[in-house]
Amino acid sequence: MKSSLPRQTPALALTLALAAAGCTSDGTTTDTGSSGSSSSSTTAEPTTTEPTTTEPTTAEPTTAEPTTAAPDTTTTTGNTTGPLATTTTDSTGPLATTTTDTASSSSSSSTGDTGGDTLVKVQLLAFNDLHGNLEPPAGSSGKITLPDDSKVDVGGVAFLATHVAALRADNPNTIVVSAGDLIGASPLTSALFHDEPTIEAMNQIGLAYTAVGNHEFDDGASELLRMQTGGCHPIDGCSDGTPFPGADFKFLAANVLVSEQPIKTLFPSYAIHELDGVRIAFIGMTLEATPDIVTPIGNAGLTFLDEAARANALVPELQAIGVEAIVVLIHEGGYQSGYYDQCEGVSGPIVAIAEQLDPAIDVVISGHTHSAYNCVIADKLVTSAASFGRLLTDIDLEISTLTGDITTATATNVLVTRDAADPDISAFVATYKDLAAPLANKQIGTITATLDRYPPMMKPGLSTMGAVVADSQLAATAPVMLGAAQIALMNQGGVRADLLYPKAPGELVDGVVSYGEAFAVQPFGNSLVVMTLTGAQIDAVLEQQFSGNVSNVLQVSQGFSFAYSASAPIGARVDPASIKLGGVALKPDQTYRVTVNSYLAAGGDGFSVLLDGTDRLGGPNDLDAFADYLAEQSPVAPPALDRITELP
Ligand SMILES: [Zn+2]
Repeated sequence: MKSSLPRQTPALALTLALAAAGCTSDGTTTDTGSSGSSSSSTTAEPTTTEPTTTEPTTAEPTTAEPTTAAPDTTTTTGNTTGPLATTTTDSTGPLATTTTDTASSSSSSSTGDTGGDTLVKVQLLAFNDLHGNLEPPAGSSGKITLPDDSKVDVGGVAFLATHVAALRADNPNTIVVSAGDLIGASPLTSALFHDEPTIEAMNQIGLAYTAVGNHEFDDGASELLRMQTGGCHPIDGCSDGTPFPGADFKFLAANVLVSEQPIKTLFPSYAIHELDGVRIAFIGMTLEATPDIVTPIGNAGLTFLDEAARANALVPELQAIGVEAIVVLIHEGGYQSGYYDQCEGVSGPIVAIAEQLDPAIDVVISGHTHSAYNCVIADKLVTSAASFGRLLTDIDLEISTLTGDITTATATNVLVTRDAADPDISAFVATYKDLAAPLANKQIGTITATLDRYPPMMKPGLSTMGAVVADSQLAATAPVMLGAAQIALMNQGGVRADLLYPKAPGELVDGVVSYGEAFAVQPFGNSLVVMTLTGAQIDAVLEQQFSGNVSNVLQVSQGFSFAYSASAPIGARVDPASIKLGGVALKPDQTYRVTVNSYLAAGGDGFSVLLDGTDRLGGPNDLDAFADYLAEQSPVAPPALDRITELP
């Protein structure tokens, strides 16, 4: 057995018979002659004439896959035509890096020798959607519900580090990986320093590989490349007073192209990690729909490919060089109704992706939905570890030295309980917390009760926090000279935290809202945009709330109201007669002034009708609007949730 750390629930141990999957009988087995006492990692990016279409819809590009020079996994690839050469001045770049940890092959790391075969035990420790949560997240963001329906406080990178170290002590053949959104939409302690502290904390924890997620693109590709290679911020410099070395770990971006012909990816498509005589490929990717959910500047010049098709296209290349153990790190996910280590009725985009993935792919480590699950889908282990560092997925693999393939894969979602903080990382985080303190601790308003970011019972609808954010955006743009706005619409995904009534550490009384707390609610730095829409267009926008896989109900300002029926057909869920401003139904031909943030104004979250808004006027930053509202309206009470009504 493994760690002595508490695992509060019975683990849903899933054992897979993966032995057959992906094994080839054509002699392309792994090279077992490698040193058993070192591990190395090679990132490789094919830059050849891979057949490229913008939307590969078939599962198998097959024959056109060129058999190019296989990357030598024991040495630097040094692929000078790699993508970084096209986008940075650093011609060596991360592509040329080979890491060689010295994780020893302890006697415990291998099991029974059966007929020349040895099973090497490899442990993957995985998490996703950390979003720069260096400090233990507050409120609902820092809790996990246990099977007895009680909630436990979890998260904080100093605690995450302790759990990683304890699990690593069980098996030195450990690889720490992430499924994206490490950074972006992060609290002030990280965001104020352009998320550099989060990258450095991950270096200390020993993260090896991360997929890019949509939020990695929040500040554009060149800023993301800086996260990898280091260097000071082009405008703010090294604002923490120390140089920024960049990530020791590798960003992977198999489906993010800087060039389609030939295919060049923003970061390597995969990394091959060698330890104890076996090799594991990690393919990293973000969701294909990333451009729909980041601002236009964030994905400028990039093309995002279908996830399964792209991963499958890489499989023959990996198998050609004898790599059979294949893990996909993907920033796309699903949902399930069970507890954090279960898999009850799994749904969402990850299901179809897992079903489409080549049988040679053994394990899928997913994210993006902030859900926790431990599933088997289409004979693949499919996991996700909630968000914000609350959980760590402990995946135990057995890999055959004879076939190179994964023979068993089991997983447990482990609670990142707050028992013991890593002292070095605690001190590191405290440094940044102190640097941010003068700004973060500034009191900007008060509230009379907690404002929740999620609607009651998590049903599609209005939340008290969302309502206040929308009200703040209306208040900032209602004056005639500032846009004459009548309605504000806010995307629920942009409401990032609760505002808690109980006093935070360091606060003297309950109900105080600090700038840091407000920042956590509105961290994106979007600006407000006032536009003119007709009543018919507003109706169309409201219908688009229900056009995706998951309902995406907008948060609306005071005075605006509508009703929807979840059982009505898509496209007819909102009764036009129910859409009212000040109690009066909107007229289809009449125009109204509507405020949204710049993300929605660009058609974000699939609200393409907002692209048609006319007479646009730019407004203030969303956080400034929010802070001003709190300053002027305090104490702010939770609004009644009567603006959106769900009908049968
Ligand atoms: Zn995401």
